[in-house]
Amino acid sequence: MSDAGYDHAAVERRWQEAWDEADVYRTPDDVEDPTYVLGMYPYPSGKLHMGHVRNYTITDAYARFRRLQGDDVLHPMGWDAFGLPAENAAKERDTNPRDWTFDCIETMRGQMESMGFGYDWEREIATCTPDYYKWNQWLFARFHEEGLVDRRDAEVNWCPECETVLADEQVEGEAELCWRCDTPVEERELEQWFLKITEYADELLEDIDELEGWPNSVRQMQRNWIGRQEGTELEFSIEGHGSVTAFTTRVDTIHGATFFALAPDHPISEQVAETDEDVHHFVEEEADPEGDEPNGVETDLTATNPVTGEEIPVYVADFVLSDVGTGALMAVPGHDERDHAFATKMDEEIVPVIAPEPDDWDSETVPEAPDVSEEAYTEDGVLVNSGEYSGLESGVARERLTDDIDTAEWTTQYQLRDWGISRQRYWGTPIPVVHCHDGCGSVVLSEEELPVELPEFINTTGNPLDEAEEWKETTCPECGGAATRETDTMDTFVDSSWYFLRYVSPELDEAPFDLEQANDWMPVDQYVGGIEHAVMHLLYSRFFTKVLADHEGLEHREPFTNLLAQGMVQLEGEKMSKSKGNVVSPQRIVEEYGADTARLFMMQAAQPERDFDWSEEGVRSTYAFLTRLQGMVEEYDDPDGDDDAVASYVDGEIDATVAIATEKYDELTFNRALREVQDLVRTLRQYAEYAEPHADTYERGLSAVVRLLAPVAPHIAEELYDELGYDGFAAEAEWPTAEIDRDHVRKRRQLVENTREDVRDIVDVAGIEDPQAIDVVVAPDWKYDALEIAVESDAPNLIGELMQESHIREQGDAAADYGQDLQAEREALSTTLGPDAEREALEAAAWLLEREFEAPVTVRRAEAVDESVLKNAEPGRPAIEIEDGSEN
Ligand SMILES: [Zn+2]
Ligand SMILES: [Zn+2]
Repeated sequence: MSDAGYDHAAVERRWQEAWDEADVYRTPDDVEDPTYVLGMYPYPSGKLHMGHVRNYTITDAYARFRRLQGDDVLHPMGWDAFGLPAENAAKERDTNPRDWTFDCIETMRGQMESMGFGYDWEREIATCTPDYYKWNQWLFARFHEEGLVDRRDAEVNWCPECETVLADEQVEGEAELCWRCDTPVEERELEQWFLKITEYADELLEDIDELEGWPNSVRQMQRNWIGRQEGTELEFSIEGHGSVTAFTTRVDTIHGATFFALAPDHPISEQVAETDEDVHHFVEEEADPEGDEPNGVETDLTATNPVTGEEIPVYVADFVLSDVGTGALMAVPGHDERDHAFATKMDEEIVPVIAPEPDDWDSETVPEAPDVSEEAYTEDGVLVNSGEYSGLESGVARERLTDDIDTAEWTTQYQLRDWGISRQRYWGTPIPVVHCHDGCGSVVLSEEELPVELPEFINTTGNPLDEAEEWKETTCPECGGAATRETDTMDTFVDSSWYFLRYVSPELDEAPFDLEQANDWMPVDQYVGGIEHAVMHLLYSRFFTKVLADHEGLEHREPFTNLLAQGMVQLEGEKMSKSKGNVVSPQRIVEEYGADTARLFMMQAAQPERDFDWSEEGVRSTYAFLTRLQGMVEEYDDPDGDDDAVASYVDGEIDATVAIATEKYDELTFNRALREVQDLVRTLRQYAEYAEPHADTYERGLSAVVRLLAPVAPHIAEELYDELGYDGFAAEAEWPTAEIDRDHVRKRRQLVENTREDVRDIVDVAGIEDPQAIDVVVAPDWKYDALEIAVESDAPNLIGELMQESHIREQGDAAADYGQDLQAEREALSTTLGPDAEREALEAAAWLLEREFEAPVTVRRAEAVDESVLKNAEPGRPAIEIEDGSEN
């Protein structure tokens, strides 16, 4: 299949070795503020998949482009090497996670090298080495010193299959499934270590506004995750239990509160459950916070509404969550959908207290109450049935009620929770804590005692660290007495929250990163990775960066200036996955067609953010393109054609391609850049077929193509650059430049394209088999003038306005006809190049028609032809006359 192509294997090997030998991708420590281009480091699962290849081709192409623009570039790679799959794989294969992980790393590094990714491998990091995870431990201790670490009992998400605690973010969907294995998650109470990310909630939220280089979707996901809500906290008194604090964003609806609800694990619920059978049964058996339907049970208690003094029934209900708000709420079924569903089920009263604001509302009268028996009215509006507050707008009422109710105050609530980092697994960073047997409590280890290294792996169903008896037994650094090591390890998201800083000084022994270097080199200029990391990884990285800015002198408060979330590579519209068996192996593609083909196909198939379908046919045609290009360069042999109109056309296209492709590379819209380059290759090929090319033009074209392809197809670019006789590497060449007038180029290309299409149509429709001659007739000057007037005019009667110009009026019926055409298309009109520039452009492009239709082409001025022909000539769309040989 591919044997007709060029010898990609030899070409790619040759240049990979040459780059390596010349250290082309090395970033020395002494460069100042390099452009930092980073792909999210992979989990070493065994092999690169297409998602990786796409991610890293994007960063590599951009890093190469920046280097060719003359920038110093930092483009490192490393391994997110801790995590559960390695532990599971080790168990299955009866090996240990370390060996398994390093095997995977070696394989994947080899694959990356074969893809031609230009990394500075001297900066490689693997998070599972003590050199790296020592600094996770150090950072934990620093966070602890700054009061940002907490140990507390917590309900945790427990995956019974993975036997581990999961962060909220690792529990997926309504069904609350484990993100790794899709097992339904359970709840457990455990002592856990937390990083207090909530202390940064406001800053994390507010700074999102400044992340202008991030996709809006990601920014919105982060906002939602932090979930800041302004509302009112107020107290309801429950007989026999004192006052209970509730939170609501809608205190304006308080007159419609017809019952009160407590979370199943609220302290009052737990007290009641001790004596009330029904409540006990509900709490223990029935409560299902994940369920679609709200469930609950009525208690014997009543709560007193602090505004109306009314006593309302108290429920224990599973839609009230203890970790959201206060775990207690006033239920307003008339104006909240969930409360409405619950009230309907329990046959509780539903009272409307907010009416939609009438269009002609005079703000004096109280509008009519809406019917909320079937459906809650959830918008703001005007208060009704609310005593002295009736007739107020919702916003005003919220303020006044919060002022008037003694116990009420404005507060801010967040969805964001502190980050539980404890994992009961082996293959992670040991949390650097010992538990003293003699009363010192949990002691965080200081720097001299780090790293706490992992002991040998023990194959067991639970946490191997629990069974590493010798390792566990230690002494307390405070009292010297007996102590036990903490056996939990850290969530691997700790590792990835600062790895981008480690690349700056990967060998450093004294600190996690060199501060001065990090201040110079950070932030990452362009970060690229999957949208699945839009919340956790990116939010945690932002949190770490802010803490390091506050306490370690980092001069940056955000880690990533520009973020690109790349789309998926699909097969027949579906995500590739091992379980579906629809996986295309990057390795096979590289073997069969070469890395350049794989890279080029991917980058031209779609904009990086979009999903696209893998197509074997697309791969083959990409390979054919590179093979043809290689042939063109090889066959190039100092031609001696003239610097004629054709050459000037080609020159114009070279300039346009260079200018547009450069702009598109800069915007990371590689597909657009590559379309330009491929069009230019076609033009050059057609040029060489049509005539003996002008040497300077043709060579300049080939040279531009080779350099413009270098970011995406780097190996073949080197090969052809060498073939063209240049010294040095294409990877370090001078990027071509050209000045163009974009508007002029767009109009010129449109004109040529319109003309070619019209000729094709006429040949088609008239069934012309053997065109003898083609005349292209440019419209008369007055039509250009008329068009210009039409574009600029906003007069209602365009024809009247045109007829004020005597030289247009003189055209009589022709002017009236054209005026009507213009009037009809008025909205869509735009100016063209003008008569002289159009004639010139058509003359330069005439060879394309001659080549395509094998007939001489003459570009004529309007004065030279008949009235009947002229009728069809318009600015931007010349008239066409074809002489048909077969008829004569
Ligand atoms: Zn699981
Ligand atoms: Zn002690």
